[in-house]
Amino acid sequence: MEKFDVIVIGGGPIGCNVASNLAKAGLSVAVIEAKTKIGFPNHCSGLVPIEFLELTNLDKSLIINYIKGAKVFSCKENDFQFKRDVPYAAVIDRSNFDIFMESKAKENGAKFFYNAHIENIDTKNGDSFITLTNGNIFNTKVIVVATGATSAIQKMLNVEIDGETIYTVQVDTKISLNDTEIAYIYMNNHIANNWFAWIIPTSDESARVGFGDNIGKNLLDKLDMLFKNWSLLSNAKISGKPVVWSIPIGIPKKIAYKNILFVGDAARQVKPFSGGGLLTGFIAGNILSETIIEAFKDNSNNFFKILETYDSRSKKALITEFKREIFLRDVYISLTDEDKDQIIKNLNSKRISQILIQYGFMDKPAITGIKLLFNNPQIPLIYLKRKILG
Ligand SMILES: Cc1cc2nc3c(=O)[nH]c(=O)nc-3n(C[C@H](O)[C@H](O)[C@H](O)COP(=O)(O)OP(=O)(O)OC[C@H]3O[C@@H](n4cnc5c(N)ncnc54)[C@H](O)[C@@H]3O)c2cc1C
Repeated sequence: MEKFDVIVIGGGPIGCNVASNLAKAGLSVAVIEAKTKIGFPNHCSGLVPIEFLELTNLDKSLIINYIKGAKVFSCKENDFQFKRDVPYAAVIDRSNFDIFMESKAKENGAKFFYNAHIENIDTKNGDSFITLTNGNIFNTKVIVVATGATSAIQKMLNVEIDGETIYTVQVDTKISLNDTEIAYIYMNNHIANNWFAWIIPTSDESARVGFGDNIGKNLLDKLDMLFKNWSLLSNAKISGKPVVWSIPIGIPKKIAYKNILFVGDAARQVKPFSGGGLLTGFIAGNILSETIIEAFKDNSNNFFKILETYDSRSKKALITEFKREIFLRDVYISLTDEDKDQIIKNLNSKRISQILIQYGFMDKPAITGIKLLFNNPQIPLIYLKRKILG
């Protein structure tokens, strides 16, 4: 039986970041990963705010494009565009980014177990035993659950990280776009119910195309519909296999259970309006790492109490933005396709464009959204009417 201070379940970027931080601080760390190879298939668009590049000290070779603005389409293809002079986001090579994070964790001393499937987790007085299906047993003081959107470990532990699920499909394409420095968003509830579709350019002739919805049925048929309905995609050629995935959103009641701590998508640390989870997962992962290091340094009997402070500490860092985005999402959901079409038509004012250029829709989407609400009195009016009348 191997013994580790901390076992991280899930070798995605958020799990690897935590493993890397902890191993660097001198703790013995293992990463248990279900896949044989980290980083594949890529389910993510890889759009990250510039702040993320600084936070992760990202190798420049992993940046494949810069994004300076966005063009938002209603279902009738009325559109609104804004563009800054400087990039507000970068598109990263997500598969190689995951491998980069894996290498960093290994360099710092974390030990990886691949193709490792957990059969049982047994926790007695805070001392935990993890049994794999191949019979291997590990002993640890702390378990970090970084298993992404899947919920098998939650079920095994009999805990619920409650919230809403957005079901997604994304595919790589060869496509010719007039401007590859902007992201393209399409709102059509018949395809992307209560969410949106996107085109994220990855080079002058390629892009990631996908959509999300909160229904999760017939996703591949709807992808087909997306290519037929959105005129921008009329010349696009699918160049990869569609990847069906999900985005867990919401603010769960609890993400720290004594020595079992959830992080990243497993803790729903994802922006509820845009679905971006990399920056927020890293921010929470760094807080989690600091908390675990502090608990191990503590000489009193407060080990588990310190670990559990991760719940409030991480929420403190994320909750204001998350609450604002949940409100914005509530407003967004209250609008019909026709409302959005009308709003897009009205958005073509200089003032609105300035707000979007100043705040972007990615770095501070909640502030941008709330400012837009106050500049479009029709939106709060529709929202209130729908809330009151149902
Ligand atoms: C379509 C789509 C587009 C997105 N676009 C963006 C974007 O543009 N920008 C952005 O910031 N975010 C985006 N996101 C969100 C982003 O991908 C996630 O927030 C991010 O991947 C979270 O990382 P993670 O390490 O928590 O989870 P994951 O990346 O999912 O990694 C989890 C790891 O755990 C492993 N695992 C799972 N279960 C087990 C188990 N039982 N035992 C062992 N290992 C296990 C998996 O194999 C995987 O390696 C997008 C998500 C989707 C679905």
